[in-house]
Amino acid sequence: MIDKNFTIETLQKLVRINSVNPALEEGGKGEFETGVYIHDQLRSMGIDSEVNEIAPGRVNVIGIIEAEGTGGSLMLNAHMDTVGVKGMSDPYSGRVSDGKLFGRGAYDMKGSIAAILGAAKAIRDKKIKLKGDLVFAFVADEEYESIGTKMLVQKIKTDSAIVAEPTGLKICTAHRGFGIWKITTKGKTAHGGNHHLGLDANMHMGLLLSELYKMANKLPKSRKHPLCGEASLHVPLISGGRSLFIYSKECTIQLERRTLPGETEDMVRAEIQEIIDNLQMKHSGFRAGMERVIWRSPFEIDQSRSIVKDVSKAVLKITGNKPKMIGHTWWEDSAILGEAGIETVILGPKGGGIHEEVEWVDLHSVIQLAEIFCKMAAR
Ligand SMILES: [Zn+2]
Repeated sequence: MIDKNFTIETLQKLVRINSVNPALEEGGKGEFETGVYIHDQLRSMGIDSEVNEIAPGRVNVIGIIEAEGTGGSLMLNAHMDTVGVKGMSDPYSGRVSDGKLFGRGAYDMKGSIAAILGAAKAIRDKKIKLKGDLVFAFVADEEYESIGTKMLVQKIKTDSAIVAEPTGLKICTAHRGFGIWKITTKGKTAHGGNHHLGLDANMHMGLLLSELYKMANKLPKSRKHPLCGEASLHVPLISGGRSLFIYSKECTIQLERRTLPGETEDMVRAEIQEIIDNLQMKHSGFRAGMERVIWRSPFEIDQSRSIVKDVSKAVLKITGNKPKMIGHTWWEDSAILGEAGIETVILGPKGGGIHEEVEWVDLHSVIQLAEIFCKMAAR
């Protein structure tokens, strides 16, 4: 049913276009060229498509096949941006060997874009009749701030969606979220010789860090999810002090908390605030402020929902195996779609080297994925 040559050539062309997220690496070109390429492909199949510029040089491409019936609508969603290419020897090669296609984005997630386009072509070529609208959403910036999918849900909503992030043809029904907070302890600047005048913000941060360390050890043991693993916390950034011989006026950390389905921003924030409040009571002069930098909700869909069951049936039909239900430890655009009230699951191809120096996708799984998308569109 799927035009294999078309799908693989499309994937190769996509990998050969630089769409590195410019927020992540200098020289990153963003999604514009990829978006125009996809838009032209959709148009040449006779599918309505538009390119929406959401920031300078950053675009979403939205294609739609309107249904003849009045069934539920389905969105196939894939991001066009990739992470950086530093350390890779030939990031844009698109080389094929041993059933694998290599290059940055091959697995995350241009293989999925090619599968969606392969499915779109088959639906057109075979004149498959759709009972519900089918939306193709190719979005910007998933690897950084997800401005693409955030903008997308303002514009268009469907009853259900498949986010085609890599899953090895397993069905992902839950993933962790994360929050980043900036916490600053306040000291009082003074000459290093004037200990009775100075207040050391760095040492106060030490008090806080030692409490956060306890929390980081406790969290994975006390909070677990059957699919997503454990909650966690770490402190990736710290800076404090201006110079030798001066009491430090400020010390700042950025704290990264990975959350499980069910944990809310208010809950997580309150737990950290409680630590700060306790330190304030115990140590005179301790002062700290907390400010949110990023919040990304965790995601979960009940496995009894029809999208989960239908995708599961389609995978069984195409691969001959009942798919496993999995969770991801990282965050994906599915959370934004879920929060917008769209029933969402994650399903993508097999491959390896995600965000690593050698990235590849299994071509057979890309074709199977396209077949599954066709089945889902025709349901
Ligand atoms: Zn991805």
